[in-house]
Amino acid sequence: MAKPWDNMSEEQWESICKRCGKCCLHSLQDEDTDEIYHTNVLCRYFDVEKSLCTVYENRCKIVSQCLKLNKDNVDKLPFMPKSCAYRQLFDPQYTEKPTPPLKGRVISETEIDETQIEDYIVDWEDL
Ligand code: SF4
Ligand code: SF4
Repeated sequence: MAKPWDNMSEEQWESICKRCGKCCLHSLQDEDTDEIYHTNVLCRYFDVEKSLCTVYENRCKIVSQCLKLNKDNVDKLPFMPKSCAYRQLFDPQYTEKPTPPLKGRVISETEIDETQIEDYIVDWEDL
Protein backbone atom coordinates (compact mmCIF):
# COMPACT_ATOMS: atom_id res chain seq x y z
CA MET A 1 0.00 0.00 0.00
CA ALA A 2 1.31 3.43 -0.92
CA LYS A 3 2.47 5.58 1.98
CA PRO A 4 2.29 9.38 2.10
CA TRP A 5 6.07 9.64 2.04
CA ASP A 6 6.56 7.37 -0.97
CA ASN A 7 6.49 10.25 -3.39
CA MET A 8 8.24 12.83 -1.26
CA SER A 9 11.00 14.75 -2.95
CA GLU A 10 14.42 14.86 -1.31
CA GLU A 11 13.65 18.40 -0.22
CA GLN A 12 10.36 17.38 1.40
CA TRP A 13 12.07 14.45 3.12
CA GLU A 14 14.84 16.68 4.47
CA SER A 15 12.34 19.28 5.66
CA ILE A 16 10.84 16.77 8.12
CA CYS A 17 13.97 16.89 10.28
CA LYS A 18 13.60 19.27 13.23
CA ARG A 19 17.41 19.66 13.45
CA CYS A 20 17.12 18.84 17.14
CA GLY A 21 20.44 16.94 17.14
CA LYS A 22 19.17 14.19 19.40
CA CYS A 23 20.30 11.54 16.93
CA CYS A 24 23.78 13.06 17.18
CA LEU A 25 24.13 12.03 20.82
CA HIS A 26 26.30 9.01 21.47
CA SER A 27 24.41 5.87 22.39
CA LEU A 28 25.62 2.58 23.82
CA GLN A 29 24.12 -0.85 23.30
CA ASP A 30 24.32 -3.65 25.85
CA GLU A 31 25.88 -6.62 24.04
CA ASP A 32 23.82 -9.14 26.01
CA THR A 33 20.39 -7.53 26.10
CA ASP A 34 20.62 -5.19 23.07
CA GLU A 35 19.25 -2.46 25.31
CA ILE A 36 20.11 1.06 24.14
CA TYR A 37 21.52 3.62 26.54
CA HIS A 38 21.66 7.26 25.53
CA THR A 39 24.33 9.62 26.78
CA ASN A 40 24.57 13.39 26.92
CA VAL A 41 27.72 13.32 24.77
CA LEU A 42 27.22 15.07 21.48
CA CYS A 43 29.01 14.65 18.17
CA ARG A 44 31.72 17.27 17.76
CA TYR A 45 30.13 18.53 14.55
CA PHE A 46 26.77 19.53 16.02
CA ASP A 47 26.56 23.25 16.76
CA VAL A 48 24.19 23.61 19.71
CA GLU A 49 24.00 27.39 19.32
CA LYS A 50 22.71 27.16 15.76
CA SER A 51 21.15 23.71 16.19
CA LEU A 52 22.66 22.23 13.07
CA CYS A 53 25.29 19.84 11.82
CA THR A 54 28.26 21.83 10.59
CA VAL A 55 29.33 19.14 8.10
CA TYR A 56 25.89 18.09 6.92
CA GLU A 57 26.66 17.59 3.23
CA ASN A 58 29.66 15.36 3.97
CA ARG A 59 28.56 13.97 7.31
CA CYS A 60 28.65 10.29 6.35
CA LYS A 61 32.18 10.59 4.95
CA ILE A 62 33.52 12.55 7.92
CA VAL A 63 31.83 10.52 10.66
CA SER A 64 31.72 6.83 9.83
CA GLN A 65 28.93 6.09 12.35
CA CYS A 66 26.72 8.86 10.98
CA LEU A 67 23.97 7.25 8.96
CA LYS A 68 21.91 8.92 6.31
CA LEU A 69 18.30 8.34 7.17
CA ASN A 70 16.03 7.21 4.42
CA LYS A 71 12.57 5.76 4.06
CA ASP A 72 13.90 2.22 4.39
CA ASN A 73 16.02 2.51 7.49
CA VAL A 74 14.60 5.20 9.75
CA ASP A 75 12.18 2.95 11.61
CA LYS A 76 14.76 0.17 11.95
CA LEU A 77 17.42 2.07 13.87
CA PRO A 78 16.94 1.32 17.56
CA PHE A 79 19.02 4.23 18.75
CA MET A 80 16.89 6.85 17.01
CA PRO A 81 15.15 9.05 19.59
CA LYS A 82 11.48 8.33 20.06
CA SER A 83 10.82 12.05 19.62
CA CYS A 84 12.51 12.08 16.20
CA ALA A 85 10.19 13.58 13.62
CA TYR A 86 10.88 10.68 11.25
CA ARG A 87 10.00 8.03 13.81
CA GLN A 88 6.78 9.85 14.52
CA LEU A 89 6.00 9.80 10.84
CA PHE A 90 6.52 6.06 10.58
CA ASP A 91 5.07 5.00 13.87
CA PRO A 92 2.00 6.82 15.22
CA GLN A 93 2.64 5.52 18.76
CA TYR A 94 5.37 8.15 18.97
CA THR A 95 3.25 11.23 19.28
CA GLU A 96 4.55 14.75 18.90
CA LYS A 97 6.19 15.98 22.09
CA PRO A 98 7.88 19.26 22.91
CA THR A 99 11.57 18.92 22.23
CA PRO A 100 13.58 21.34 24.35
CA PRO A 101 16.89 22.31 22.80
CA LEU A 102 20.00 20.39 23.75
CA LYS A 103 21.88 23.56 24.68
CA GLY A 104 22.97 23.43 28.30
CA ARG A 105 22.23 19.72 28.65
CA VAL A 106 25.03 18.14 26.65
CA ILE A 107 28.79 17.94 26.42
CA SER A 108 30.86 17.65 23.25
CA GLU A 109 32.74 14.43 22.60
CA THR A 110 35.85 16.60 22.35
CA GLU A 111 35.57 17.40 26.05
CA ILE A 112 35.47 13.89 27.47
CA ASP A 113 37.66 10.82 27.77
CA GLU A 114 35.70 8.49 25.48
CA THR A 115 36.87 5.44 27.44
CA GLN A 116 34.72 6.82 30.26
CA ILE A 117 31.62 7.37 28.14
CA GLU A 118 29.49 5.11 30.34
CA ASP A 119 29.71 7.83 32.98
CA TYR A 120 27.63 10.03 30.70
CA ILE A 121 24.59 7.79 30.35
CA VAL A 122 21.49 9.88 30.96
CA ASP A 123 17.83 9.02 31.34
CA TRP A 124 16.49 11.45 28.75
CA GLU A 125 12.79 11.83 29.49
CA ASP A 126 12.25 13.86 26.34
CA LEU A 127 14.34 11.79 23.97
S1 SF4 B 1 28.15 14.35 11.60
FE1 SF4 B 1 26.27 13.15 11.86
S2 SF4 B 1 26.21 12.71 14.09
FE2 SF4 B 1 27.65 14.40 13.76
S3 SF4 B 1 26.46 16.29 14.02
FE3 SF4 B 1 26.46 15.78 11.83
S4 SF4 B 1 24.58 14.60 11.51
FE4 SF4 B 1 25.02 14.59 13.71
S1 SF4 C 1 16.49 13.13 15.91
FE1 SF4 C 1 15.31 13.13 14.01
S2 SF4 C 1 14.45 15.18 13.92
FE2 SF4 C 1 16.15 15.27 15.37
S3 SF4 C 1 17.96 15.86 14.15
FE3 SF4 C 1 17.89 13.63 14.22
S4 SF4 C 1 16.80 13.05 12.33
FE4 SF4 C 1 16.33 15.22 12.71
